[in-house]
Amino acid sequence: MASKPPKGDPVQDAPQVTEAQHAAAGLPAIGHTLRVAQKQMGVRRTALTLLRVNQKDGFDCPGCAWPEPEHRHTAEFCENGAKAVAEEATLRRVTPDFFAAHPVTDLAIRSGYWLGQQGRLTHPMYLAEGADHYEPVPWERALDIVAEELTALDSPDEALFYTSGRTSNEAAFLYQLFARELGTNNLPDCSNMCHESSGSALTETLGVGKGSVLLEDLHKADLIIVAGQNPGTNHPRMLSALEQAKRGGAKIITVNPLPEAGLERFKNPQTPQGMLKGTALTDLFLQIRIGGDQALFRLLNKLILETQGAVDEDFVREHTHGYEDFVAAARAADWDETLTATGLDRTRIEEALRMVLASRRTVVCWAMGLTQHKHAVPTIREVVNFLLLRGNIGRPGAGVCPVRGHSNVQGDRTMGIFERPAPAFLDALEKEFGFAPPRHHGLDVVRAIRALRDGKAKVFFAMGGNFVAASPDTDVTEAAMRRARLTVHVSTKLNRSHAVTGARALILPTLGRTERDVQGGGERFVTVEDSMGMVHASRGRLDPASPHLLSEPAIVCRLARRVLGPKSATPWEEFEKDYASVRDRIARVVPGFEDFNARVAQPGGFTLPHAPRDERRFPTATGKANFTAAPVEYPRLPAGRLLLQTLRSHDQYNTTIYGLDDRYRGIRNGRRVVLVNPDDARELGLADGSYTDLVSEWTDGVERRAPGFRVVHYPTAPGCAAAYYPETNVLVPLDATADTSNTPASKSVVVRLEQSTTD
Ligand code: SF4
Repeated sequence: MASKPPKGDPVQDAPQVTEAQHAAAGLPAIGHTLRVAQKQMGVRRTALTLLRVNQKDGFDCPGCAWPEPEHRHTAEFCENGAKAVAEEATLRRVTPDFFAAHPVTDLAIRSGYWLGQQGRLTHPMYLAEGADHYEPVPWERALDIVAEELTALDSPDEALFYTSGRTSNEAAFLYQLFARELGTNNLPDCSNMCHESSGSALTETLGVGKGSVLLEDLHKADLIIVAGQNPGTNHPRMLSALEQAKRGGAKIITVNPLPEAGLERFKNPQTPQGMLKGTALTDLFLQIRIGGDQALFRLLNKLILETQGAVDEDFVREHTHGYEDFVAAARAADWDETLTATGLDRTRIEEALRMVLASRRTVVCWAMGLTQHKHAVPTIREVVNFLLLRGNIGRPGAGVCPVRGHSNVQGDRTMGIFERPAPAFLDALEKEFGFAPPRHHGLDVVRAIRALRDGKAKVFFAMGGNFVAASPDTDVTEAAMRRARLTVHVSTKLNRSHAVTGARALILPTLGRTERDVQGGGERFVTVEDSMGMVHASRGRLDPASPHLLSEPAIVCRLARRVLGPKSATPWEEFEKDYASVRDRIARVVPGFEDFNARVAQPGGFTLPHAPRDERRFPTATGKANFTAAPVEYPRLPAGRLLLQTLRSHDQYNTTIYGLDDRYRGIRNGRRVVLVNPDDARELGLADGSYTDLVSEWTDGVERRAPGFRVVHYPTAPGCAAAYYPETNVLVPLDATADTSNTPASKSVVVRLEQSTTD
């Protein structure tokens, strides 16, 4: 199997490489932000739009889920947030004429970057069976087509309802309600591919599958450990929080296979001092081998146990369970094995221990570098062990901080977008809406792809996102998608998933965050939940990109009325007209949302309760915080191979490609690059600037090849390589997933590098 670079695309991937940078943000970021924004929106619209991002009466940034501080600056956004806004508020349009000029076969050979640059979708579009062109279709007919296919299924479980993290709380709640009234829990979502491992580990150990810290906890911390995360690109305003923590005396340890500019120095564009000199953020950099994190935290735990007075014994006695088994496992940790697993030297681990012991309040932050491994769940459980040992849960300035990606990915899960809903949630839904929700589990992303591949799922409906680009094993996923009877995408912009279709396909254009949402004669707002459990309103102010757009709640309500008909007692028409009535129902179904409408009307919204943080109460099976004692795992590397992690460039947000540069890493005008440690490269005979194919090795014996990557000598950890996704998703086998969470193991792919087969 091989994924080829797009041929005939006007966007030519020709990487140039210069020095990597050692500081993030500053003047270059401002210049870049303004250039990108003005190119897409023009000067006036840029000013009008950007000044409303993340303001209390404005709209929520459609980028990541980083929270806003209580006191906001006039410009409360980062470079990547501005890019996300510019892409949505762009003046460019994809009209029916565009589709007349570009058949699907043409769209299928274009790069994701080119597709995204064409602008906002303006009309519902339909691809009939056997046709090569999407054609405009009235909304009524488009929804009839979806209803036809859904009602023709032998079972509701033959339908899949995917959600991306942009979807608002109101739309997500309605969407899961519709799917469950139809009779399925098939609600795969982008969480399945990112923080599912965090949710699994935290639910089991702490009883709440979310982070336990608020922004002010970061500001108060003595020590912040940032593991497997690159905030400078993926959550840029986190750098301001880290800077503030440093000003308060905090130390920062970063644990990552690559050095990242944002964690080295932050030039805060909000202050003259920041712009000039910036703040050095990292005090200790542990350049860990990919996948060595569990071993590192296990050894730190052993060393804490061996240090007189280091364990918070009162906390352990009062609040935890499973301590003895954990202690036995931790005491067995072995220095030599840890040094092999982590690639670190002893002195740096000892230095880390000194910093850990000097800290009374410790926060551990992490992202995909921890969650996308086979042993991701035990790794995060080991992080929890580490924090429990010194009582760092439920203490101000301390806790777990899984940093979430897409802006409402956490809120969507809170609203019930989950293939394995808790019985209590279904009970509440049943009581409120008077129907019997299905109790059997549905399909997550990986299982949904298998179901499509095996002909067991026939309708694929996506509320946002770019499913085929985001998913692993690209060729398998695309072939699976092509077996569907109908694929439907509710989208703002064109992407690859519109070119890889079932027998019939629909594109349903929807409002963006920046746009005014008028329903039932009045302007409506929606709500979102950020990475730290803050819920707040989001109000767009721009005129919609086209008069033919519908909001996501309106699409769901209209579809539900068609599909469910009079057997549904849910007031779909009322919900479409007034989202406040949806919030009233959410308030009665979802714990923590009591009095939702009143509380979200407060500027800045409200914070959801979090029992471990607020009361040191742990709603787990044991009623305590659970220590765990899993065997230590780490990837083993055969000779002559490298361990590849997929990652994002600085000109990218998830699968959306804003440009072909990765400024901080010194890469320009191209994405097909593989970053290889110079010593490894020399050993493998790979000169800097040479071209290679990446071939992954997996137990199924299938050859997965990503051809034509420029080798870049880069200071990655020895034995480790890195390359961008979605280009390298082709290398990640569908069956290579994390234990328990089933998250694709995209951060530990064994590859060999072969002479390039492309010219
Ligand atoms: S940090 Fe995230 S939420 Fe904030 S402006 Fe940047 S992309 Fe948007």
